[in-house]
Amino acid sequence: MWRPSFRTAVFLAMLALALAYLLQLVSLAAPGDATRAGIARQTDDVESRRLASNAPAWSVAQLRITPTTPLSDENLRLLAGLSNKEQFLRLVQPILIPRVSGTPGNLLVQQHIIQTLRSIGYTIETDSFQDTPPAPHSRRTFTNIIATLDPNAPRRLVLACHFDSKFDNRGEFIGATDSAVPCAMLLDLAATLRGHVDSRPTKSDITLQLLFLDGEEAFGEWSSTDSLYGARHLSAQLQQKRNRFAPGVPNLSELSSMDLFVLLDLIGTTDTQFVSFYPETAAYYTSLAGAEDRLSNMRLIKQWGRSAFYFGRTALPLGSSIDDDHRPFKEKGVKIVHLISYPFPSVWHQYSDNEANIHYQTVDDINKIMRVFVCEYLSCRF
Ligand SMILES: [Zn+2]
Repeated sequence: MWRPSFRTAVFLAMLALALAYLLQLVSLAAPGDATRAGIARQTDDVESRRLASNAPAWSVAQLRITPTTPLSDENLRLLAGLSNKEQFLRLVQPILIPRVSGTPGNLLVQQHIIQTLRSIGYTIETDSFQDTPPAPHSRRTFTNIIATLDPNAPRRLVLACHFDSKFDNRGEFIGATDSAVPCAMLLDLAATLRGHVDSRPTKSDITLQLLFLDGEEAFGEWSSTDSLYGARHLSAQLQQKRNRFAPGVPNLSELSSMDLFVLLDLIGTTDTQFVSFYPETAAYYTSLAGAEDRLSNMRLIKQWGRSAFYFGRTALPLGSSIDDDHRPFKEKGVKIVHLISYPFPSVWHQYSDNEANIHYQTVDDINKIMRVFVCEYLSCRF
């Protein structure tokens, strides 16, 4: 847990204000989290310019993929009916333990994720590597898990979460929203859509890929070297690998097979709420908001007395973003939808981010919206 000293906080606040003034951007920092928002803002601007002038030919083909094929009311009802609270609890409970990278708890959670997805028919790859967090933490092994429904499909709709928990030497930090619940949501999605999302490509050549990233959390103060250990490593590995589905296209990396990268983070409490961060993927975000509207109109989600949508409709100032596992992928040209609660949940990096504060009905509503989005994207079978 990051507790900045008063002088550090004042310095960071002044830095953030100066940046916001210079770039005419509105800060999206959560309280005490100026660093996390600041890093992204500085890099995004440079990267988006670089990528705009450097788009690979493959992305032209990707643009031909329409975000969604609208589902019938009947299929919407069917997808909503797939919810199973007992199944979700079975999937989330083994993750609700301290699981700091390189510890036995982390290994147990890896086994749970791998066993669950293997039993559903996913092909599992792991990306293990060593890195050294700042002292006094020791060098350790980090492991990303890559689960692909059809490894022979050249394009992937990628859904991602981080399964490690934040180091805390004073108490037991569980990180239910951060990110046990988002990871369980991916497992639940795989389990409920079994039989609807095929192991063979359903829409020409696209399959579903689930990424469980290790080492998202900083061990000390959040910085570019102490955070996102797994995402930085995996994105670099995939960038170095040639795309085997496009042998004739030079310099095309494995990352180019990612149609879209949807990152789930800080989800599970009643104050879960999203915003659209990136104009280039606004169409996908609109599909999610549209799924929320249709499910709501058909009374298939309850929205639990909320005064606001889960998928907020207010546009953000251009260039606003929050630093998270998506950044190393975005910097390398991958299209991103960042589903992180903003503002951050009130339990963020508190001991109260535990099972008692998971609101199952909220999670279930969002699970239904994700099911519709994925089925519209991949043209599920019914
Ligand atoms: Zn965290």
